[in-house]
Amino acid sequence: MESDIRMTGLRTRAVNVPLQYPVITAVGVVATAPLVLIDLETDSGVVGHAYVFTYTPLALKATQAMIDALAPLVAGQPLSPHTIEQLLQARFRLVGNTGLIRMASAGLDMAIWDAYAKTLNAPLVEVLGGRARPIPAYDSHSMDGVDLAVRRAHDASDAGYRAIKTKIGYASLAQDLDVIRAIRHAVGDHVEILVDYNQGLSVPEAIQRSRALASEGLGWIEEPTLQHDYDGHRKIREAIATPVQMGENWFGVEEMSLALKAQACDLCMPDLMKIGGVSGWLRARTLAECHGLPMSSHIFQEFSAHLLAVTPTCHWLERMDLAGPVVDSSLTFRDGHAHIGDRPGAGFVWKEDAVERYSV
Ligand SMILES: [Mg+2]
Repeated sequence: MESDIRMTGLRTRAVNVPLQYPVITAVGVVATAPLVLIDLETDSGVVGHAYVFTYTPLALKATQAMIDALAPLVAGQPLSPHTIEQLLQARFRLVGNTGLIRMASAGLDMAIWDAYAKTLNAPLVEVLGGRARPIPAYDSHSMDGVDLAVRRAHDASDAGYRAIKTKIGYASLAQDLDVIRAIRHAVGDHVEILVDYNQGLSVPEAIQRSRALASEGLGWIEEPTLQHDYDGHRKIREAIATPVQMGENWFGVEEMSLALKAQACDLCMPDLMKIGGVSGWLRARTLAECHGLPMSSHIFQEFSAHLLAVTPTCHWLERMDLAGPVVDSSLTFRDGHAHIGDRPGAGFVWKEDAVERYSV
């Protein structure tokens, strides 16, 4: 029985993975994907896999060390995501369960859920009580400038995507409009266009620019101002008709709850890592359901597909393949949807030769 299985240890590896396109935002560039790969070992031989994304290589080694520090806490414990989550929450209450501590705990949570599902020989979605189904996916792009934005929009449309996201917040509103209109011209009206300011604007500036975008038919405007400024987001929401999207920076459902209380957004998109892993997502989906908020994912596409399949207000999966070079995943994309494969757990293994190549 799976209840007899105990965890024996953790192995972590830091990699810095090349990206097909750098992630260019209004507030900075992510040129490579710094990832900590986690292997959660059990006495049954089953190994759970997960990764965390540290945004900057500067945080890579510290995050890896933080995850390594959790190894003594899991060794000898039963393979139970809930038990470990409660243990970690208690252990980190005084220091504060946020930042790198939250990211490390979430990575461990994902790896435990992966091992747990593998022990039951079932895809994660089934262990969570759901069934694999196609999840609508949008192709996520950068602040690419007109020429590259159009090329990527054509590629996405040709590949069957019915929504694409582009990052804006150029030096002028006119440049934002040029890019959006060029993409619209390229893909026509049947593809939804989403935009992301990555916190780049002040509240008055966001209101002014968002109003000017009102007639572009955008699906959402994401993080128009500082992510922690929930009142600012509410003011922007109240001033414009386009839905306001946010959530990728909420550390835990407690921050999500504060944002919803402030009526900061029309749509939500928690990040699987920052929200607290699979266990955190399961709480977030209930909060979104209670508030009637459509819920999308943020990166972490391999796990997120399983979780969106059991999310009552499932909206869009973000296709941004940060870990692609080091991950062999059963997740596939066609006809504008993410398709969950039938491998157990989250459905991926490491490409060991690539892990070696990109090792830090
Ligand atoms: Mg974003």
